[in-house]
Amino acid sequence: NIRVRFCPSPTGNPHVGLVRTALFNWAFARHNEGTMVFRIEDTDAARDSEESYEQLLDSLKWLGLDWDEGPEAGGPHAPYRQSQRMDIYKDVADKLLAGGYAYHCFCTAVELEARRDAARLAGKPSGYDGTCRNLSAERIERYRAEGRDSIVRFKMPDEPITFTDLVRGELTFTPDNVPDYGIVRANGAPLYTLVNPVDDALMEITHVLRGEDLLSSTPRQIALYKALIELGVAKEIPSFGHLPYVMGEGNKKLSKRDPEASLNLYRERGFLREGLLNYLSLLGWSFSADQDIFTVEQMVSKFDIADVNANPARFDLKKAESINGDHIRMLDVKAFTEACEPWLQAPHADWAPEDFDRAAWEAIAPHAQTRITVLSDITANVDFLFLPEPVFDQPSWDKAMKGEPAALLTTAREKLVDADWSDPESLKNAVLTAGEAHGLKLGKAQAPVRVAVTGRTVGLPLFESLEILGKERTLTRIDAALA
Ligand code: GLU
Repeated sequence: NIRVRFCPSPTGNPHVGLVRTALFNWAFARHNEGTMVFRIEDTDAARDSEESYEQLLDSLKWLGLDWDEGPEAGGPHAPYRQSQRMDIYKDVADKLLAGGYAYHCFCTAVELEARRDAARLAGKPSGYDGTCRNLSAERIERYRAEGRDSIVRFKMPDEPITFTDLVRGELTFTPDNVPDYGIVRANGAPLYTLVNPVDDALMEITHVLRGEDLLSSTPRQIALYKALIELGVAKEIPSFGHLPYVMGEGNKKLSKRDPEASLNLYRERGFLREGLLNYLSLLGWSFSADQDIFTVEQMVSKFDIADVNANPARFDLKKAESINGDHIRMLDVKAFTEACEPWLQAPHADWAPEDFDRAAWEAIAPHAQTRITVLSDITANVDFLFLPEPVFDQPSWDKAMKGEPAALLTTAREKLVDADWSDPESLKNAVLTAGEAHGLKLGKAQAPVRVAVTGRTVGLPLFESLEILGKERTLTRIDAALA
C-alpha cells in the first residue's frame, strides 16, 4: 500500500510551491489507490501560528485535495500535529543516544565558528568536524560541571550514501558533504531533522515527494532511517522524489514572499480550483505532448512520478490565467453563473446589494463566460447593468470622446430609437448606419456608444449588452453623455 504525506509547517500564507507539492502527492496517492497523510510540522513555536494552520486546512479543502489521515480525519497514527508528539521524539532521541547513533555535542557557537573558518582557510570541508563524537565520560562530566549546554548530534556514517531519486535517478553524497548534524536543541526541542523522518517512519510513509530545496536533507534522513531500522523503530527506507524548482520573474526561484506565489491571490482573483490545479500540475509534469488542458480526474488517471521532469519549471501567470479561462469555458452556464456570484454581491462602493438584477445577470452571463479568464473580472464587465450610472473610466472616456463623437452619438441615438430592441442585429445596424453617415467604420462608431453606456472602451459584445440593458436606460445614458 502506497502511503504519501503532505507535511507543511504552519508559517505564513499557503503558497503555490506548497500547493504543487500537495497536489503531486495527492495525485500520486489517488492514482495508486494509496493513502494521503496530512501532517502538520509545528515544532517551531516561534514561527508557527494557529491562523496559518487553519489556512492550510481551508486551502486544501477549497482545492479538493482531501486526505485520508490527518487533522480532523484522524487515523491510526494520530496525533498528526507534531506539537502533540513531543514524547515520541524524546523517546527516539534517547534510543539513538543509548544505541550510540547520536551523541551530546558541547561545542559552543564561537568554537564552531573558529574551527569552520580555519577549515575554510586550509581548504578543508567546513562542516562539523566530529570533535564531540568520542568524548570520554570524564570530559562530559567536566563540560556539564562547567555549565556548558549540549545539543544532540546524529553521527553520520563514514561511507557515501547512494539512493535512486524517483525524479533525478541515482544520486551519491560523500561523507565530506554530509557532516554530523543536530537533531535536538540545547533546550530539548527536537529539530526538523529528527521529527520529519521519525514521523515518516512511524506513519509508514512509502514515498517522500517534496521540493528540490530539501534534497540536501535526504542523505541525512536515509542515514537516520538506517539507525531507526536497527533500533526497530522504522521498517523500511521510503523512496524519495524531489520536485523541480519553480522559477519566477527574471529566472529567479519563486519565493514564498513573491506576491504571485500566494495562494490567496488566486482565490481572490477568482481562479477555479480546476484551472489552478491544471496549471500547477504543469509545473514539472505534463499530461501529453499536445494537450495541456485537462480535468483533475484526468490528471489523476495519468499521474506517474516517473514522468516528473527534473528541470526547473517556469511560473507564468499569463499562462495560468489562460488555462483558467479555458476551465471557465468548460463550466455549464449554471455553474458559471453561480461561481461568479460572490463577485456580484455589492462589489464596490457605488453598488448597493439591491442593484443586483438576477434576470439581467442570467441574460448577460453566457456572453461573459466566453471572455473572462478569472471570475473577479466579471464585476467590471457587467456592473453597467446594475448601477444607476456607469462607472466612467476617464482615459476610456477621453479616448472615445476625441474628435466629434457628439454628432455621431446624436445620429446613433436617432437610429436606435427606431431599432428593434429584441434583436441585437437591428441595434448593430442602427450604429452601423449612424457611422456611415459620419464616414466611420463600425468599430470607430461603436466606441463612443460603448463608453456612454458602459463607461469603458472594452467589454462584452455591445449590442447584446444594449438589448439586456434596455432601450430606455440606453437612451438615457446617451443623453447624459451628450448633455
Ligand atoms: N515541514 C517541512 C517543510 O514544510 C516538510 C519538508 C518535507 O517534506 O520533508 O518544508
